[in-house]
Amino acid sequence: MSTTATASELDPTDSTPETLDTGFAALGMDARLLASLTELGYEEPTPIQRAAIPALLEGRDVLAMAATGTGKTAAFALPLLHRLNDGARPAERVAALVLVPTRELAMQVAEAVHRYGKALGVHALPIYGGAPMEPQLRALKRGVDVVIATPGRALDHLRRNSLSLAHVRTVVLDEADEMLDMGFADDLEAILEQTPDTRQTALFSATLPPRINSIANGHLKNPVRVKIDREIVAAGETARVRQVAYVVTRFHKMAALGRVLDIESPTAAIVFCRTRTEVDELNETLTARGLRAEALHGGLSQDQRDRVMKRFRAKKTDLLIATDVAARGLDVTHVTHVVNFDVPSDAETYVHRIGRTGRAGREGVAITLAEPREHRLLRNIERLTGQPIAVEAVPTVNDLRARRLELTRTTLREAILEAQEQGNTEAGHEVVASLAEEFDIFDIAAAAVRLLDAGRQGTEEPEIPAAPVRSERPASSGPSGRGAPSRGARSERPSGAAGRVAARGGDSEARAAKPRSSGGAVVKIFVGGGRKAKIRPGDLVGAIVNETGVPASEIGSIVVSDRHCTVEVPAGKADLIVDALGAAHIKGRRVPVRRDRVG
Ligand code: AMP
Repeated sequence: MSTTATASELDPTDSTPETLDTGFAALGMDARLLASLTELGYEEPTPIQRAAIPALLEGRDVLAMAATGTGKTAAFALPLLHRLNDGARPAERVAALVLVPTRELAMQVAEAVHRYGKALGVHALPIYGGAPMEPQLRALKRGVDVVIATPGRALDHLRRNSLSLAHVRTVVLDEADEMLDMGFADDLEAILEQTPDTRQTALFSATLPPRINSIANGHLKNPVRVKIDREIVAAGETARVRQVAYVVTRFHKMAALGRVLDIESPTAAIVFCRTRTEVDELNETLTARGLRAEALHGGLSQDQRDRVMKRFRAKKTDLLIATDVAARGLDVTHVTHVVNFDVPSDAETYVHRIGRTGRAGREGVAITLAEPREHRLLRNIERLTGQPIAVEAVPTVNDLRARRLELTRTTLREAILEAQEQGNTEAGHEVVASLAEEFDIFDIAAAAVRLLDAGRQGTEEPEIPAAPVRSERPASSGPSGRGAPSRGARSERPSGAAGRVAARGGDSEARAAKPRSSGGAVVKIFVGGGRKAKIRPGDLVGAIVNETGVPASEIGSIVVSDRHCTVEVPAGKADLIVDALGAAHIKGRRVPVRRDRVG
């Protein structure tokens, strides 16, 4: 029997604004890891971390259901790093292996492991397909503690004996459902076979379909199950809160926040961030933009925090940029807007945050900025709270102009009313009268409006491009049955991607899958290389996911013949896929790719 630890049932941290010690200290990790978390500005563990870290530190196997954005990477990386340094440092390398579905995730996880483990002197190496072998071979030879690999490339190295897993103590399967979707099931089996039976295994997956359970049953020993998917009842007040989300890339996030704040012109808003560092950065940028903003986080002394809160209550500050811990206990009734700079890592935090607005019968607005890969998390929150979050397009430059004109109109109207009240409407008449001898009075007024409006325009604002929203696939669980977005490929495709293939699939010659998410028209594309060129279905899925960002779940059946393959893809994305695959190297070479004449 496995133990179940539901993160949301575990005690929330006790941190009050007086004791802003990070909840991380209580988890029993190496002090150097705690120091790097403080440096990164993490204030408290996310629910998945609170639940998974103690179990992993104990050496237990873990089966965790967690989507991107929940803090899952730190949930496995921190204990893995702690255990590397627990007792004698293993002389033999490699000591830990993280398997991930895509090249991009390999790079992200390696970067996270490096960041958290810098003070421990841990060597982490991402290895993924498509990249040249030589540098990977050299790095492996020099010695690596943690390897983060896509399954195909890991197998390549195992076959060449350039990677040995004989001394691996911990194996992590990250985004396991996605790896299965990409046809890596056989590769995973082959890799796990080469690791010691005594290893610790952690499996992280956004969903837990039966296929995941069968991997878990075969490879995890009495795992602690961690799930943060608990239905929560939204506080009654949130019914008065308009909930909106904008999907933007990380690159455009700051600009999008500025745009949204310009449009909404909140009089009292709390902007929530995940880390202290983010709070400070945002505060600096927004202050430089001329907004009355102040930072509130656990790095400030109690006195400083009191002063910041006092100014916000007294309406001397319009924007409070805060972490969750620091804003706890802040009770202000006039908050008009809550902005989530990131999607909160769990639904309860979301409800708690947005409950700060829409109080005392007022209407409130809750705005969430989500990166495309966090879309699933957003939909989870929607499902768990039972309240819709409208995904809207980021306001355009034209929207902004219209809004500024509206503000100009309001300003003028108020000035006229005020002058009337004070019996002071004559001021300025003289100038108007003299101009009226030459021009139409309407033209004179319009020129004055333009001048006033020009004073509002800042520097020329660029348009913020719409980020691709992951298409929906039917939710695998959940009472509402509402679709959840497909998981997988990251939206921000790596630059210079052409010519690389991250992944290889299983040995099967055909991949019988239906594009599950689009539900729209499907077309076949023809790839001019097949079995003889050693192309397998997984190669094609890997190449499409990596080169186009189209998720594996949207790719349909793949048939591999001796000299060619056909792949079913959504009609709307066929041209994109044909162009990208045509430019890429598959199994080391360029192959002709076109729409299939028959299909
Ligand atoms: P992940 O779900 O692993 O993709 O993490 C999502 C984001 O949350 C990453 O940018 C992490 O740096 C950040 N993060 C993870 N854990 C925490 C934490 N405890 N506090 C603040 N930020 C965190």
